[in-house]
Amino acid sequence: MPGLETQVVYVRGVGPQVAKMLAAKGITTAEDLLYHLPFRYEDRQNPRSLDELKPGETASVIAEVRGALLMRTRKMPLFELTLGQGRFAMKCLWFHGNYLEGKFHAGQTVAVYGKLEPSRSTANLKMIQPQFEILPDASDDAETRLLEVGRITPVYESLGGSRLASRWQRKVIFNLLDGMRGSVPECLPAAMQKRLGLPDRETALREVHYPPEGTSMAQLQAWATPSHRRLIFEELFFLELGLELKRRKMRERVGIAFTTSDKVREAIREVLPFHPTAAQKRTLGEIVADMRQPSPMRRLLQGDVGSGKTIVALQAMLVAMENGYQAALMAPTEILATQHYLAAKKLLERSSRNYRIVLLTGSLDEDRKRASRGLINRGDAHLVIGTHALIEEKVEFDRLGLVVVDEQHRFGVMQRFRLMKKPNQAEPDVLVMTATPIPRTLALSLYGDLDVSILDELPPGRTPILTQSRTGEHAEKVWDFVRKQVGLGRQAYIVYPVIEGSKDDQPELDFSHDEQIVGVGAGFGAAATAKAPPMSRARKGKTGELFSKAAQEANPAAKSGLKSAVEMHEKLRTGPLSGLRLGLLHGRLNADEKEVIMRRFQRGEIDVLVATTVIEVGVDVPNATVMVVEHAERFGLAQLHQLRGRVGRGAAKSYCILMTGERVSEQGEERLKAMVRTQDGFELAELDLQMRGPGEFFGTRQAGLPDFRVANLLRDREVLELAKREAARFANASAAEAEGTEAERARVWSRLKDAWQRKYGLVEAG
Ligand code: ADP
Ligand code: MG
Repeated sequence: MPGLETQVVYVRGVGPQVAKMLAAKGITTAEDLLYHLPFRYEDRQNPRSLDELKPGETASVIAEVRGALLMRTRKMPLFELTLGQGRFAMKCLWFHGNYLEGKFHAGQTVAVYGKLEPSRSTANLKMIQPQFEILPDASDDAETRLLEVGRITPVYESLGGSRLASRWQRKVIFNLLDGMRGSVPECLPAAMQKRLGLPDRETALREVHYPPEGTSMAQLQAWATPSHRRLIFEELFFLELGLELKRRKMRERVGIAFTTSDKVREAIREVLPFHPTAAQKRTLGEIVADMRQPSPMRRLLQGDVGSGKTIVALQAMLVAMENGYQAALMAPTEILATQHYLAAKKLLERSSRNYRIVLLTGSLDEDRKRASRGLINRGDAHLVIGTHALIEEKVEFDRLGLVVVDEQHRFGVMQRFRLMKKPNQAEPDVLVMTATPIPRTLALSLYGDLDVSILDELPPGRTPILTQSRTGEHAEKVWDFVRKQVGLGRQAYIVYPVIEGSKDDQPELDFSHDEQIVGVGAGFGAAATAKAPPMSRARKGKTGELFSKAAQEANPAAKSGLKSAVEMHEKLRTGPLSGLRLGLLHGRLNADEKEVIMRRFQRGEIDVLVATTVIEVGVDVPNATVMVVEHAERFGLAQLHQLRGRVGRGAAKSYCILMTGERVSEQGEERLKAMVRTQDGFELAELDLQMRGPGEFFGTRQAGLPDFRVANLLRDREVLELAKREAARFANASAAEAEGTEAERARVWSRLKDAWQRKYGLVEAG
């Protein structure tokens, strides 16, 4: 009898060859197979008839093949299928449909699923590129007929070509469930299930694959049936339980109990250049309270672009330094690290203490790196600012007290800070800062063991940024406007998606020698390169690989004709912006060159900075009032918001001009509209989350976050909250009030261990 842990190769209907294909999809056990849920369902109990359907509806239709035809148009082969139901008919069209030739015969019954379009030629309906399935007829075996007709039928994403498509999965999963009847082990305490009104595991698994007659189709498609909720809860419960344990473990670790005295406060007062906002005071209070605790701090400081996170961090670092510890600030790009370095230097110059600040980035020359490392190791550097090089260059601190990570969304970085301290020393405190306004519940869950502080107030005196979207034809006017602003003593940025020519026809990320932080953006991936979100597969209902490929060919991505920073710098310098002082900044310059350019722009010696997205994150030049983004349609929402955040940092009115290329997708259009409409980072993040799905939004793939089997953080927020509460309750219940029997609880813990190691891989060493 198969069990959940049975290797798929022994599952009925799977042989060594298929097992290999499944392994490629991450499916190695019977359990994996059972948790590969249908991504949608077709109601074949009572199929809809053609005469009741209207254009615009998305529907599944069962009808009879009347005719099939491959047409060779000038552009591409087009396959046309005519389906009929009594006197009603419908046409289905597939572009590049040559592969369909010979597949259909008159008289066959076919189920198609897609959006109904009005058809011009006749009064009939039409579907373009629908998904289809030829339904079994009398010559097929009884089992196939039983599983596919006259019931709610599950539709699966293929696990390997047409061979392991829906039909194959229906049979294998049906048999598997049948073989395991009554023996699927439960993993949640029965009392908990009962209290929460969740079905048991076996029932849930059976009913998500084979919904009983009469199950609500709407609930099924939304993954909202009790059975779906049960499986989603199960997954999130074990995630949250693991996170809960991590938090507890952290509280038991030995950290540094910093003290705050008048001396410390005085040190801060000396350097503060302005009155902190109430939000800055509050968040600093939360941070300092953590720092005073003997356990290590793990805190996330979340604040929209321009909310003034840096100064909060600097104050925390002063606390550490005044306690005789070293502080480190890590930034995702060299430019940002350099900027922090310059700014910190300037501020700390006002101090009566002799703080020594050291910069360490990957592209510094070896001599300077060696010198920095020496200073850090001997304890002569009090404040160390750098990129990931701080971790990579095996820097060992003399007495590291606080690490601040700026604009960082990555998981898996935490434990590596331990490499930076000497053995047998207490663990440094860690403060992570991000501008991505992650909805609070998600932040709490995603960052798991981090506490969260929110900077929800902008410093005073900001005027809103005027944002406009313009097509390329308005370029002349835009350049005139830039000239005018420079005439008023202001500065401008002009941003391009690529550095140079078409050979690097890709949005730039300035992490060339730093594979670790590529895609630092949860939310910073450029739209143009966005891959299918890893977690969306369950929701979206894929059109099938065949079709997306065809669609690409039919509509070649706008690959060529992108303006680049290098070329436009030259063009603008000699053309529309001649006479102005232009600078060029991109990721291919070395650290010194970047530093020089940034310094000159900061000092106002450069009027217009032509750049790539290297300036996306964190750059702070308050006198800059104009942000022009060319090919704005190629950028993601979070990225545009970040770019816009480079201006509006001073009291003068600021402008953001989003220039578009020729072709703008519907989604691109929507992003631009949202940018024009609102400046609220939270609203934009919510929208971004909706448009891209959480997988892409959080960059979970890169971040090493769990790739959920059934849960979807956006859709299942409410279940997530529940799971979090339940996990805390379970973990913290004393023996007396614990829910469930001892055996049940033991099973929960053992499953937790297994789940975390196998699926999430989040377990930290030590
Ligand atoms: P971000 O949160 O995006 O990192 P920064 O820390 O770069 O924001 O701050 C944005 C700008 O606001 C900087 O020029 C900074 O000097 C300024 N600033 C920060 N706090 C205040 C404040 N309390 N009053 C006035 N200006 C402030
Ligand atoms: Mg910042």
